Amino acid sequence: MKICRFDDNRIGLVKAGAIYDASAVLEQLPDFRWPLPLGDALIARLPELAPQLEAAARDASPIPLAAVQLLSPVANPSKIIAAPVNYAKHMQEIASDASLHQGVEVKPIQSLGLFLKAVSSLVGAGEGVKLRFAERVTDHEVELAVVVGRRAARVPRARALDYVAGYAVGLDMTLRGSELRSLRKSLDSYTVLGPWLTTADEIADPGKLGLRLRVNGEPRQESSTRNLVFDVPRLIELASSFYTLLPGDVIMTGTPEGVAPVAHGDRIEAEIDEIGTMTVGVGTA
Ligand code: MN
Repeated sequence: MKICRFDDNRIGLVKAGAIYDASAVLEQLPDFRWPLPLGDALIARLPELAPQLEAAARDASPIPLAAVQLLSPVANPSKIIAAPVNYAKHMQEIASDASLHQGVEVKPIQSLGLFLKAVSSLVGAGEGVKLRFAERVTDHEVELAVVVGRRAARVPRARALDYVAGYAVGLDMTLRGSELRSLRKSLDSYTVLGPWLTTADEIADPGKLGLRLRVNGEPRQESSTRNLVFDVPRLIELASSFYTLLPGDVIMTGTPEGVAPVAHGDRIEAEIDEIGTMTVGVGTA
């Protein structure tokens, strides 16, 4: 299934380029009262609600994708976890470009581990990226995003993929400068997730997906998740060895080479095989 969230928090299934509204199923979710539970309630109940989503979508009329505003397919992650320098050629490009490394020695992911992005940075493709600090550079980073399906603590790599709800295309937008990663990558709208969630059953192997990014039609990034230094199972194993992963948590798996600046008015197309292509406008905050 390809599940999207759109307009005023409606939920739909995407089939053959159209959306079929299945929002009635959201009535099944409890009315929450303070203190709200951490994590995403819809993702947590996806296995049991999936048949109902399919049934509701069967009765719906198609809505053209172009007619809606796509929001992040995950509404409430408790964490956005991200992998630094997880493609060897991206590490080489950072090491050879002072505007990227900012005079700081580039360390491999084996040394750096992971970092967190603010959940308030998360938007969907239809909301777009809003640049801040016009005098500074913001780069695009296309990444495979993994959405955790169930509570995961100390998961060994052999069982790691059992904990995945699905996958999406991710953009880890990055303000260049000397500050720590978590600050420079946590600006409002600097994490884009979309265009929808492709459930894990549709992705035979997350380690064999081509990914690419174009800006205004011009190719900028092109690689495959075959080139990940730490693959998806290893990232889940590593993350869940440090903290408990909750339904809806997002793991941004890192970007390949080709990162470059974007400017106000640009149109980013980010694409991953077997998931889809999201088009994201760039504006100014
Ligand atoms: Mn990144």
